[in-house]
Amino acid sequence: MIVETLSLESWRNVAEVEVAFDEGLTLFTGPNAQGKTNLLEAVFLLATGRSHRTARPDELIAFGRQRAYLRARIRRPSGEYQLGARIEGGRVVRQREGKLFRRGQDPLGDFAAVLFAPEDLLAFKGAPADRRRLLDLDVGQDSLAYRQSHQRYGHVLRQRNALLRSYERPPQELLATWNSAWAGAALALTHERERLIERLQPHFAARSAEISGGPPATLTYEPSLKAADPQQALAALAERREEELRRRTSLLGPHRDDLRAEIGDRDLRLYGSQGEQRTVLVAFKLATVSLLAEGAAGPPVLLLDDVLSELDQDRRRNLLLAATGTQTIVTTTESSLAGMQPGRTYAVRRGEYVGTW
Ligand code: ATP
Ligand code: MG
Repeated sequence: MIVETLSLESWRNVAEVEVAFDEGLTLFTGPNAQGKTNLLEAVFLLATGRSHRTARPDELIAFGRQRAYLRARIRRPSGEYQLGARIEGGRVVRQREGKLFRRGQDPLGDFAAVLFAPEDLLAFKGAPADRRRLLDLDVGQDSLAYRQSHQRYGHVLRQRNALLRSYERPPQELLATWNSAWAGAALALTHERERLIERLQPHFAARSAEISGGPPATLTYEPSLKAADPQQALAALAERREEELRRRTSLLGPHRDDLRAEIGDRDLRLYGSQGEQRTVLVAFKLATVSLLAEGAAGPPVLLLDDVLSELDQDRRRNLLLAATGTQTIVTTTESSLAGMQPGRTYAVRRGEYVGTW
């Protein structure tokens, strides 16, 4: 699947533009703060319904405007279609060929994007939330069931936390209701994550060996909730009851999950060198591309935001080589990057994109 064109209106620092992408590599270059990331963010939002930088859609609307519009022409093996998004009043509404759909309800899930930004590079060193984001934002695009159970769990968790926050001792019945909703939603998401990581693992191992030239790295899911059924989940929850009431928040469940990456039995969260961290992240993103590529739509769009200049020659070459056959959109502040032959190049200045090819 290929994104052929993208038009933006009142999006971040962009008034109104249309850009066309190459089927292979498109490069956006320019100094800082001109609109390079803004463009990748727009492609990512069309794919996922969210921004990778903010949870508040209104920040995406150009200062002083009421709403923003995005429109893309997508080409799949089965034909072309239009994908659009309107951002207004704190909401993102997407549409496909004029038909509206909401996040988690994408009927086909056939436009996917994997975004790789410098802040991802240390995800295996950072907090568990950084690693969950990798799963939720990128890999989760693979499955509608995943997106739905993720949304459902988020909803239940917010309600349950609100309840714990509002009372020193929440009413028994009310808490019991939210506990059982929690058990169902938590088990469902845990199960979806298990499946997803299991499928990602072989791609990850292969990619990491390819990039490092050494032994493959492994990826292991560390679920917060270890339970086979709702009864066991509720029993595990009961054990945390007093602590939850004291701290007035939910302490068990997928919002506390983690992911472990190891090279030769060494946990990278603790022992990874800078280079190993980078290798693992590049492997993770490429594994995500391979996993998504198994879907009906074929390879996703790979969005590389300023990461190539962060990588050494070898990793950069491996990344681009592995991305052959995947439509790739790259941003950089350097005027050209050694070893790259983009099909199209745009110079980015103050929200305008001037193409040369
Ligand atoms: P860098 O190389 O530093 O990453 P960039 O080209 O990727 O730079 P962007 O993140 O795309 O820069 O942002 C470009 C500009 O857009 C910034 O100066 C920012 O202040 C501006 N901007 C962000 N949101 C809005 C908005 N809602 N309305 C107007 N301008 C905005
Ligand atoms: Mg940027």
